[in-house]
Amino acid sequence: KFFESLGLAPWLIRSCKQLNFKNPSNIQYNTIPEIINGRDIIASAKTGSGKTASFAIPILNLLSEDPYGVFAVVLTPTRELAVQIAEQFSAIGAPMNVQVSTVIGGIDTVKQALILDKRPHIIVATPGRLASHLTNGLKIALKFCKFLVLDEADRLLGEDFELEIASILEYLPPPTQRQTLLFSATMTNNLKKLESISLNSPFIFED
Ligand code: AMP
Repeated sequence: KFFESLGLAPWLIRSCKQLNFKNPSNIQYNTIPEIINGRDIIASAKTGSGKTASFAIPILNLLSEDPYGVFAVVLTPTRELAVQIAEQFSAIGAPMNVQVSTVIGGIDTVKQALILDKRPHIIVATPGRLASHLTNGLKIALKFCKFLVLDEADRLLGEDFELEIASILEYLPPPTQRQTLLFSATMTNNLKKLESISLNSPFIFED
């Protein structure tokens, strides 16, 4: 299994090697080519399996072909996870100077607006914070966003986040005009309850 066989741009292969990612992990090897080919995804693999890079690498690959506007929205249940995901996007995307913004609790609204003014390519957010910014009129141009990622999707699709995710979806392009990627540690019933997210014949991978 080699990064060279996944259809990635040369700069991204170099970036992975610089970060000491010698070979793609199992989930990366299986999902990256499908994401690059435009498929929606439902994937599960335990923490530490390289789940984050499984969506970060192909999103950055496609972003480097079309570097305009907010390209991807990544939702995750906690601030800590949001910060970790943002760090991986920044690290892998460093050679391209990818702009990554986190939208999480604990940052005041004025500071948050300034962060979003930097026109990020990637927004990593907790659902409550992003939903409240959007419904309170903070202008974030998500209309042409190409990817919605739900990390820890089993938790995000549970009742706790139902209303917040529903309100975020109203600001995103319809499912046919974006790719939707669901990643989680476990494949639970929540993942099968997907009407609100409406995936287009997703590629399903279970590690
Ligand atoms: P995750 O499962 O996303 O929490 O990733 C666990 C850790 O593995 C992170 O610190 C990544 O930087 C690292 N990682 C991701 N992909 C690879 C890879 N292909 N080779 C080596 N390390 C990796």
